[in-house]
Amino acid sequence: MIFVTTKLDGKKLAIKIREDLKKRVENLKKNGIKPCLAVILVGEDPASKVYIRNKKKAAEKVGMETFDKLLPETTTEEELIKLIKKLNNDPKIHGILVQLPLPKTINEQHVMQAIDPAKDADGFHPMNIGKLFMNQAQLIPCTPHGIMKLISEYNIDLTGKNVVIVGRSQIVGMPLIALMMNANATVTVTHSYTQDLVNKTKNADVVITAIGKTEYFDESYFNENAIVVDVGTNRNSEGKLVGDVNYDSVNGKVAYLSPVPGGVGPMTITMLLEQTIQIAERSIK
Ligand code: NDP
Repeated sequence: MIFVTTKLDGKKLAIKIREDLKKRVENLKKNGIKPCLAVILVGEDPASKVYIRNKKKAAEKVGMETFDKLLPETTTEEELIKLIKKLNNDPKIHGILVQLPLPKTINEQHVMQAIDPAKDADGFHPMNIGKLFMNQAQLIPCTPHGIMKLISEYNIDLTGKNVVIVGRSQIVGMPLIALMMNANATVTVTHSYTQDLVNKTKNADVVITAIGKTEYFDESYFNENAIVVDVGTNRNSEGKLVGDVNYDSVNGKVAYLSPVPGGVGPMTITMLLEQTIQIAERSIK
């Protein structure tokens, strides 16, 4: 039997949301507020440089300001925290983003905790994570937030659905548990120690793959009604960007599937912009 798989088109949705963000930025500017995202990079990691360049470009495209601070690899934890505290107290800065990973000499948790929770555009501060698990979320980690918006755009009701999350990282899988639970889904979280993964994914209504392994999941992992959201962002042997799901094998065999690129990636950046604008809007409310 041949199925038509609906593409969960994050690129298209991101364009639509960013049009709305442009209007919100214009409105803020009319009120004398220029929403500004501060981006801090420590060291020379080439992938991180590309990520922050993309974030900066996207912010500028919706009319936001950005403030970049590129610090050398030798920066100490103390120096970095001192800079964050300065930005916390600067009323012109609305969102603060510290690009991860940080050099091994710096404790990431200490750095995340130094960011003012009210300016935590990435949503990683323990206070924001705590609020998320209490269903009182304000600022939400951007990738899981983007996944929820993408699913909702297609009018998919998660109430009572069996959701299997593959991967339990602090930036994707873990916050997604709370978001899915808050949407009244029944959540199963799986990871590298999970036994018989295929049995769990095959019986799921929704599967979120976030393991970082090139085209790991083929059609045998899913049922024909499954909604599959692929978070993985990997390079294959030809250097091409691919997901955790083998798109060609799975396309046509499930109900919904998000592509890589063009799925979760554009949504993540859009949520970062949206949250920074949301923070700036608090000053006029
Ligand atoms: P991590 O490496 O931090 O976590 C990977 C998770 O996958 C771990 O929980 C690990 O289990 C689990 N895992 C690994 N192998 C298997 C397996 N064979 N079966 C089941 N579980 C497994 O990765 P991230 O969460 O940071 O990223 C995951 C992917 O998502 C990457 O490709 C990354 O590039 C991408 N990503 C994309 C974003 C976007 O905006 N599109 C944003 C963030 C990430 P265990 O905990 O036991 O080790």
